[in-house]
Amino acid sequence: LARLRARLAQSNSGLGRGLLSLLSRETLDEETWEEIEDTLLLADVGVDPATELVETLRQRVRVLGTREPAEVKALLREELIKLVDPSLDRRLNVARKGTDPQVALVVGVNGTGKTTTVGKLARVLVAENLDVVLGAADTFRAAAADQLETWGSRVGVPTVRSDKDGADPASVAFDAVTAGISTDADVVLIDTAGRLQNKVGLMDELGKVKRIAERPLSEGHTIDEVLLVLDATTGQNGLQQAKVFAEVVDVTGIVLTKLDGTAKGGIVIAVQRALGVPVKLIGLGEGADDLAPFTAEGFVDALLD
Ligand code: GDP
Repeated sequence: LARLRARLAQSNSGLGRGLLSLLSRETLDEETWEEIEDTLLLADVGVDPATELVETLRQRVRVLGTREPAEVKALLREELIKLVDPSLDRRLNVARKGTDPQVALVVGVNGTGKTTTVGKLARVLVAENLDVVLGAADTFRAAAADQLETWGSRVGVPTVRSDKDGADPASVAFDAVTAGISTDADVVLIDTAGRLQNKVGLMDELGKVKRIAERPLSEGHTIDEVLLVLDATTGQNGLQQAKVFAEVVDVTGIVLTKLDGTAKGGIVIAVQRALGVPVKLIGLGEGADDLAPFTAEGFVDALLD
């Protein structure tokens, strides 16, 4: 985890250090406050949260009456943590409750890192002694099932897939859940296709995958977790696409990937506001260990390191 923190701090230093150096200027005039706001906007924090943060900081710095770097940093830390919201429940709903396995769908636009996230997450769950089954319901992209199977063997868990290209994703999801039940697995992780051709098409496809995947489950048991994967480097554009997914399926958590390759860590704040769903996991690289649980304090500390 220390390694991940270091990596995040490195890539995000633009935001935290930028803010700190602006805040420790001799005089905090109008222009400086505008620069502070611009810095937040450049990091994709979003307009409303950026304005709010500047307003609150202005007031608190005035009340504080000192420019002591340590004290200013403490204020900034507090206000950033408030924006990221430490009160949100970020736990994954993967603790088995009955005889069924818990079922998680992983959704999002192609290329955001869905398959990689499923692989990394499987590894985390296996390390917690959970039995995991993977479902390769991204039947649209030819190599996706191979890629997922490779992750499966790397992590030591079975992958349910179809041999045919372009098979029905819902039927693969059904088979994966059925396999999970018959092998008494704890968690079934289902990778889906992220075609964003149009909203109706997406809604039909994801809706069907969800409905059919629920069929083998006990009465009343629905999909436990729908994780929406968002690539942090795609900024406001990616955020718009994420909104479309959130409109067609009830998202329960966000996985923000590629935070290692961007100084735009503020997207964490923007995406939570836009979707009303907590960021639960962050991707910090392509490797098997590069997935971390998200905490408001940990994230802000990494920003300000
Ligand atoms: P999918 O189409 O959504 O399933 O995306 P993939 O899982 O195939 O990932 C697309 C690319 O992003 C691959 O090259 C991954 O290795 C890379 N990737 C995924 N997550 C991360 C991350 O957190 N950081 C970095 N740097 N690369 C990532």
